[in-house]
Amino acid sequence: MTAASGSTLPQPPARLPDRPGARIAVVGAGPVGVGLVERLLANAPVLAPGRALEIVLVDPFPPGAGRVWRTGQSPLMRMNSPARDVTLFPDESVECAGPVRPGPALDAWAAATAAGELPPVADERLRDDVPPVGPRSFAPRRLQGAYLTWFLHQLAGQAPPGVRVFAHAGRATALERRADGRQLIRTADGAGLPADAVVLALGHVDARPSGRDAELAAFAAENGLLHLPPGYAADLDLSAVPAGADVVVRGLGLAFFDFM
Ligand SMILES: Cc1cc2nc3c(=O)[nH]c(=O)nc-3n(C[C@H](O)[C@H](O)[C@H](O)COP(=O)(O)OP(=O)(O)OC[C@H]3O[C@@H](n4cnc5c(N)ncnc54)[C@H](O)[C@@H]3O)c2cc1C
Repeated sequence: MTAASGSTLPQPPARLPDRPGARIAVVGAGPVGVGLVERLLANAPVLAPGRALEIVLVDPFPPGAGRVWRTGQSPLMRMNSPARDVTLFPDESVECAGPVRPGPALDAWAAATAAGELPPVADERLRDDVPPVGPRSFAPRRLQGAYLTWFLHQLAGQAPPGVRVFAHAGRATALERRADGRQLIRTADGAGLPADAVVLALGHVDARPSGRDAELAAFAAENGLLHLPPGYAADLDLSAVPAGADVVVRGLGLAFFDFM
């Protein structure tokens, strides 16, 4: 294998395909959005053989990895699932419509990648993450991002005739119904992306501090203290915390370990 995994998907055409062709936009390109693409591709030849179908993933983060699993994050951010339990391939244990295609879980993908049986990960910074991953490993999240990216690209590369997968980088800000009954996704850059159907697969969305968090933020502001609201640990700026300072972390879940 020579080509590295992780190539980018093409941008969608400006025009919708002529009917009876259709475009389905999936807003959110994390595991749920990508899993939906897998089911659409598996079912398209059964339900709409030969019909032109465009599938567009919309996300400001790279499609496949998305926000949680993006490959640019620190390797200290780890999964809390062992690698043997992590897969995007449905098997006979999954209740779903359409044919199932088996494939490697994260541990088997890492072993095959390390052995050169699958393409190397595109981002060279991640290549040292691959060989240590075994069935019981809690892999770096960024490596899971590389696995998801590989999954999506090999899926798109094997799309049935007439079906194509695109990516549109951007954050959706509104969804409108056009005069012709089709949908229009507005994105933060002001662009509009038309589609026949839109699926929202947004994961956990950010929330403004409320209740107890708002009280704590106000108390900190009044007393010259620092309060960081709940959020993705990998996204929060901790540079304002002085070295050696006493810190209270509320909650003892995965985010606690990220902060520690
Ligand atoms: C820090 C962290 C660690 C985790 N670790 C594990 C683990 O080890 N094992 C496990 O099983 N689960 C873990 N999870 C749970 C995780 O949420 C799921 O595994 C999985 O990522 C959920 O997939 P999803 O596609 O629903 O959401 P996400 O992975 O969050 O993907 C949603 C995507 O939607 C995009 N999006 C949101 N709003 C918009 C918008 N307006 N416009 C365009 N795109 C948008 C986001 O950018 C994101 O890429 C973890 C979650 C977090 C937050």
